[in-house]
Amino acid sequence: MLIRQLIDSQSNTYSYLLADQGQALLIDPVRDKLDDYLRLLDELQLRLTMAIDSHTHADHITALGQLREHTGCATGFGEPNPASCVSFVFHDNQQLDFGQRSLTAWHTPGHTDDSYCFVLWPLGQEPACVFSGDTLLIRGTGRTDFQNGDAHAQWHSLQRLLALPDATLVYPAHDYKGWTCSTIGEERRHNPRLQVANADEYAHLMAGLKLAEPKMIDIAIPANRACGRV
Ligand code: FE
Repeated sequence: MLIRQLIDSQSNTYSYLLADQGQALLIDPVRDKLDDYLRLLDELQLRLTMAIDSHTHADHITALGQLREHTGCATGFGEPNPASCVSFVFHDNQQLDFGQRSLTAWHTPGHTDDSYCFVLWPLGQEPACVFSGDTLLIRGTGRTDFQNGDAHAQWHSLQRLLALPDATLVYPAHDYKGWTCSTIGEERRHNPRLQVANADEYAHLMAGLKLAEPKMIDIAIPANRACGRV
């Protein structure tokens, strides 16, 4: 079992390469990093079988379309309202297999209505891992003020993540300070967005954030609806 965290420093996006028994899966690949991914797959002698996006990204362009062209991998996106260019659509609790391992897709709306997290259940003594998209970030959570965002829905999605064991490793889709990994227990105790009593308090907190629009939003969303082929 291999897990590699790959950064796109333009958008502070983390992509994840997971592999088992020579079969690889990429989560949230960035189009500008295509050559790096292809080289790494070749060097590690991995066959990319699947590439998936955690949601419609507003800040970078996905590599799904180009990865499919170059490797023949399946490309997946979650319900509802998936881009029509993907080769399959996943739904809540769907298993996504690679080698002898699989991820479980959890529909976690809130940042967007199409946001998913991916849970890697442990084998033996390993901790579980959650690839938490923009739902749960390290000491933060994904904004809920555009793309059908909904702070109440996100609070409920966060409760689902917080029910995972404390030792579960949290791998987010972004970090702006260079923090690479956390755990569910650490975030429960120290994430300022999680120190609220209920969904209404959470929505009030999120409504007060006053965030700037992402610079790439007008380009990235239509491009990502086309799997990054523009
Ligand atoms: Fe996002």
